[in-house]
Amino acid sequence: MPGRVKLNNSEKMPAFGFGTWNLTGSKCVESTGEALRVGYRLLDTARIYGNETEVGEAIRQSPIPREDIFITTKLWPNDFGYETALRAFDESLERLMLEYIDLYLIHWPRDDKEKRQQSWLALVELAKQGLAKSIGVSNYGIEHLEETLNSGFAPAVNQIEFHPYIYEEQRPILEFCKKHSIIVEAYSPLSQGHGLNSITVRDISERTGRTPAQVVLRWAVQHDTIPIPKSAHAERIRENFKVFDFELSTDDMKMLDELSLTH
Ligand code: NDP
Repeated sequence: MPGRVKLNNSEKMPAFGFGTWNLTGSKCVESTGEALRVGYRLLDTARIYGNETEVGEAIRQSPIPREDIFITTKLWPNDFGYETALRAFDESLERLMLEYIDLYLIHWPRDDKEKRQQSWLALVELAKQGLAKSIGVSNYGIEHLEETLNSGFAPAVNQIEFHPYIYEEQRPILEFCKKHSIIVEAYSPLSQGHGLNSITVRDISERTGRTPAQVVLRWAVQHDTIPIPKSAHAERIRENFKVFDFELSTDDMKMLDELSLTH
């Protein structure tokens, strides 16, 4: 079972999560419910996914106490601005039918620096009020992160695309985040299902007796990131969660790291 990771504001976050992008309607309620049954405690949604209502429904249907579930949702850039961000947050809470969010993220930095900064100040206010237990960002590069750090309130998390095929590109951000105690959440950790068939991944999978998905998810865990794979299939939801009872060797990690140089 995954443990919990301590964030830079002392809150704790599960070390593994369930992504819900592209899950809608009853399929979303069903798959999210399955994830909770299997043991996932971190759920990732966003206003733009159009499924906050369904994710909230799955939480209500589950016997797991609210405080044991860690729910992330995100502010879409169309809602940038201080007041609009606060309103967007309230609407997300209403759709989820929750009293608070565990982690609220700015979904994308977009170009408008002033509005982005106003939005960040709105998130800081939400954190101060305890309506968002933790706040963070997503798809932020180093200069965006620096801008946020200069505001005097550090993001707890930066959620970025992270899988072996994008490793070299994302490495500077990963290192910057580590240096500043910002946890990296790995989105699209299965490279959206592509790339699980490469010879390197298949070789390691055969040698370790783990599936290709488990191999790349374990790789993300060993890079100290929190992966949030999505699946609409119960057996894959279970498969993806089983990555805490084995370890990849340094050589295997290196081979996976190098996939980004050859693809
Ligand atoms: P993933 O890398 O999680 O891949 C999902 C795809 O892989 C689906 O097509 C799924 O198919 C397939 N899959 C799942 N498990 C397996 C398996 N064991 N073997 C083979 N194929 C598998 O992609 P996502 O882009 O969905 O990323 C995960 C989450 O990250 C999102 O759901 C979302 O919550 C978040 N995200 C955040 C973004 C951001 O901007 N902050 C951007 C993109 C994603 P099937 O469902 O049919 O099983």
